[in-house]
Amino acid sequence: MHKGLKPLLDIQELDIKMIRLMRVKKQRQGELKQIESLRTELKEQLTLKEEEIGEINKQVTVLEEKIQTLTDKYKKLEAQQASIKKVEEFNALTQEMTTVEREKASLEAQASNILDRKVAEEEILEKIKESLSASETNSIELEKEIKSSIDMINKEGQQLKVERDNLVGNADSESLKIYERLLRNKKDRVIVPIENRTCSGCHIALTLQHESLVRKGEAVVFCEHCSRIHFWQESEAVEGTTAQTRRRRRRTVKA
Ligand SMILES: [Zn+2]
Repeated sequence: MHKGLKPLLDIQELDIKMIRLMRVKKQRQGELKQIESLRTELKEQLTLKEEEIGEINKQVTVLEEKIQTLTDKYKKLEAQQASIKKVEEFNALTQEMTTVEREKASLEAQASNILDRKVAEEEILEKIKESLSASETNSIELEKEIKSSIDMINKEGQQLKVERDNLVGNADSESLKIYERLLRNKKDRVIVPIENRTCSGCHIALTLQHESLVRKGEAVVFCEHCSRIHFWQESEAVEGTTAQTRRRRRRTVKA
């Protein structure tokens, strides 16, 4: 193996752990956000409903004032009528009173409709309040669990970083830069062994010439298909071959 690769391999293992850890963290943060957004949505619904009911109350007040005015007007006309002697005037007042009564009845019908709507809206408001309090009670435990797992992830991440910082000193800075650039692109192992003359990163077959270059370990050799760095692992390569031979033999027996 090229001597510059050994420290990088150790760093790579820590980086892969870190990548996985950050994926889990992102997922958990997403779960937390989902719970929070559900609650925000319910709170918004609650505010909207309260505003709607407030608006209805205003309409009711306006109608009640109008009804009161008409009631007063009716009483006034009634009093006027009591002191009138002429039949025409009496009849004219009666007509006016009928009009007032009709207007009042129509306003009262409107008010009654609006009050029915208010009752319905208040029922919805109650349901929203119930869901909100249920979601708060139910998610408290879950949120606690998620938050503590994020804390643990952060601690583990800090520990990994300390370990990594210790290892970085052993690595050649040029090779480290190349490695880090590759890792940023792939978010996966970028220094990989050759297995059965195949890149174990992209699984594309390699030439014999490429393999022997890697085996010599004199230079850093990149996969021409996926740009990963290759290394030669003596022991594993041998094991791999044995396993394959065994498999082949078994297949022969079956046939
Ligand atoms: Zn490759």
